[in-house]
Amino acid sequence: MVKILSKIVNFLFPQICFTCKSSLSSDEILFCKTCFKKLPFVKSYCKRCGRLFSIDFSEVFEEDTLSYCGNCLKDPPPFERVFLGFHYREPISSLIQRAKFSENFELAYQLGRLLRKAIEVSFEFYDYILPVPLSKKRKRERGYNQSQLMLWGYGGFYLPKELLIRARHTRPQSELSLKERLENLKGAFAVRGSVKEKKILLFDDVMTSGATLYETAKVLKKAGAKEVHLLVLARA
Ligand SMILES: [Zn+2]
Ligand SMILES: [Zn+2]
Repeated sequence: MVKILSKIVNFLFPQICFTCKSSLSSDEILFCKTCFKKLPFVKSYCKRCGRLFSIDFSEVFEEDTLSYCGNCLKDPPPFERVFLGFHYREPISSLIQRAKFSENFELAYQLGRLLRKAIEVSFEFYDYILPVPLSKKRKRERGYNQSQLMLWGYGGFYLPKELLIRARHTRPQSELSLKERLENLKGAFAVRGSVKEKKILLFDDVMTSGATLYETAKVLKKAGAKEVHLLVLARA
């Protein structure tokens, strides 16, 4: 039934490739196969903290060799693993902007599906899968949490309960330096319910300095979480 319905929808509103505008088949998401291959996938990064490596080690070494950077050995972050999908570059950056600011729910959902094609993380390993929460104020302004919609697309099911909430509103991060960012986020998150001994996958659409994810993971760890992993659509 769903299949027939989606065929009808496709017929009435044909899906086209964001880049070359050719029409998409049912197994293509936002991009045709040719344009998908050209997307800015993140290939080489520290699997612990998400720091980008300038050399593509994946060409030289086996998968997962050299996966930790020097920083993580000295001063590990409050999360154990990072999964990155794309670089925050065109055409991904434009799509994220649209999903965020033009109330394009469908696009946010499709970006989640696209991410799954780039990097597959099994939800079964985790007790909780959480989007980084928006503050109540921002959610009111925007009307929805785009990360939650993206996770829906990624996992194929809706995550109804927000375990993690923003305890207070914070200034937009983009105006601030890294030091100010961390300062700005202090006490911004609170854990509702118990995360003791739980394994948690935290999702965010864009990771820039990592301050938001860092702070969120710290709160979860303080509340007793066993492991926190990050899944990120685009790395700036
Ligand atoms: Zn195309
Ligand atoms: Zn690292």
